[in-house]
Amino acid sequence: MAVTATEPSTPTSAAFGPAVALSCRECGERYDLGPRFACEFCFGPLEVAYEFGDITRESIERGPNNIWRYAGLLPVPANVRELPNMNPGLTPLVRADRLAAELGLRSLHVKDDSANPTHSFKDRVVAMAVEAARNFGFTTLSCSSTGNLAGAVGAAAARAGFRSCVFIPAGLEEAKVVMAAVYGGRVVAIDGNYDDVNRFCSELIGDPAGEDWGFVNVNLRPYYGEGSKTLAYEIAEQLGWRLPDQIVVPIASGSQLTKIDKGFRELIALGLVEDRPYKVFGAQATGCSPVARAWEDGHDVIQPVKPDTIAKSLAIGNPADGPYVLDICRRTGGAVAHVDDDEIVDSIRLLARTEGVFAETAGGVTTGVLRKLVAQGDIDPDAETVVLNTGDGLKTLNAVSGTGVTATIPPSLRAFKEAGLL
Ligand SMILES: [Zn+2]
Repeated sequence: MAVTATEPSTPTSAAFGPAVALSCRECGERYDLGPRFACEFCFGPLEVAYEFGDITRESIERGPNNIWRYAGLLPVPANVRELPNMNPGLTPLVRADRLAAELGLRSLHVKDDSANPTHSFKDRVVAMAVEAARNFGFTTLSCSSTGNLAGAVGAAAARAGFRSCVFIPAGLEEAKVVMAAVYGGRVVAIDGNYDDVNRFCSELIGDPAGEDWGFVNVNLRPYYGEGSKTLAYEIAEQLGWRLPDQIVVPIASGSQLTKIDKGFRELIALGLVEDRPYKVFGAQATGCSPVARAWEDGHDVIQPVKPDTIAKSLAIGNPADGPYVLDICRRTGGAVAHVDDDEIVDSIRLLARTEGVFAETAGGVTTGVLRKLVAQGDIDPDAETVVLNTGDGLKTLNAVSGTGVTATIPPSLRAFKEAGLL
């Protein structure tokens, strides 16, 4: 039995709500709930296993206007809403008729996760990690980050009373660095790319110096990842308790896409939505497209790449969940595609111009891939489609740096008319 009695702390199971164990995604071996992330036998990733209680649409609808309305489906205590947390979620599902018309789609919604407290979907996953860190008695919250996560961890640590120390690759967008640092924690830039930062964090975690550190995306990763399920729950609830026919999701590590699929399957299993097929589509930037390349080549193995793209929040060259993404896109009849930096910028402008949603580069990737998949005939124009925007355009202003004033004129009506601006 792989369950050990030497965990740093042994929280009561009630602290994790309906979660009952961690289970290996590869071999199925089960472990006690603890700060562990890899199987001792096959090194496969661990994920949270549940025994759900009685959950109805009504019981969810009576909940708070944030992700804790789904607390009964998450590895958090029942009283989670009383604990100091950022309480993200229930972001707008924008009906995107004008963008749909431009792309030739019948029904399109944009799930706009820039409306979270630190303006990216990362608040969802960090909220889970905070509760796990509290349960395990960690004192410092940490992460390796391409930017958005660092801000989400800094804010959540400040709110919940943890120290924080986050690690980012040198050369990130200034807005993301400021957003990470303003909350008062330590922000350490590592000379290298995200994958180098990740390797460094693995070293630190194995060292006694990192003993009471909760790395949200390493030793708390199984809990952290579950936060992305709330995107699936919200989309279904906001569509009137219905799954979309097609959904376009960005791929960084690939975790978000796998958890959205997990969330949809849970809703079906619990009888909260009708069991009908849905297709999951993955979106990458051409400059970091290892999963899309494997998809195109029909491979099961992901060849790591060195990222070179303006979509830095997706710039993970060795995506841990890449193989699972391929499985899900194949199983559901979806696809994985990529768009280059010019198409990303063009798509940011398209989404802003048609729907008033200013996306960061990752939202340009999903919108661009949506446009490409429609043009290629991979997306059914008559089926209900949802596209994700996972972050705020204010974080990646440089991407649209040519955008500015239409004209500069003297303060006179005559000058305005003469400039031909009427
Ligand atoms: Zn295993």
